[in-house]
Amino acid sequence: LRQASMKVGGVLQEILPMIRNEALLHNVTVIYLPRPELPPILADKELLKQVFLNLGKNAIEAMDGGGTLIIRECGISEETNRITVEFKDTGPGIPSEALDKVFDPFFTTKPQGTGLGLSVCQRIVDDLGGSIEVASDGDGALFIVGLPCY
Ligand code: ADP
Ligand code: MG
Repeated sequence: LRQASMKVGGVLQEILPMIRNEALLHNVTVIYLPRPELPPILADKELLKQVFLNLGKNAIEAMDGGGTLIIRECGISEETNRITVEFKDTGPGIPSEALDKVFDPFFTTKPQGTGLGLSVCQRIVDDLGGSIEVASDGDGALFIVGLPCY
């Protein structure tokens, strides 16, 4: 782990071109809502990029035929002192019975899937002292990443 102080927006800016390229190929619109005034986080930049790339890739893969991916920097969670970043898509969402399985290694619903992306994401944010949560209320999937403020 190579932890350093950084702006979460700076990390997102580095992976956005890759996500936008992939989105373009799949007719997906990407909306990025930054919050430049947020304080820095303590993280390993390369590992955090991996987390965001996995979440972006999953969202795009879920939206076969097009849709919208919103990547939003939220505020600081009062009780945990974590900055939260949301990945929200307009895909089919995740059935309630699968919600507690998506982070399990090898859980996949894709013919060519490895089922490792989200388990790696969870492992990385755990190591960074953060959190990752999923929600799906019938209007796409929502992944929330919490990262400790520096
Ligand atoms: P993989 O992408 O190889 O299937 P992941 O660990 O990245 O493995 O994801 C596991 C499973 O979680 C996916 O197969 C899919 O069923 C579900 N999933 C992840 N992200 C989304 C999403 N944005 N929308 C719908 N389902 C999702
Ligand atoms: Mg994946």
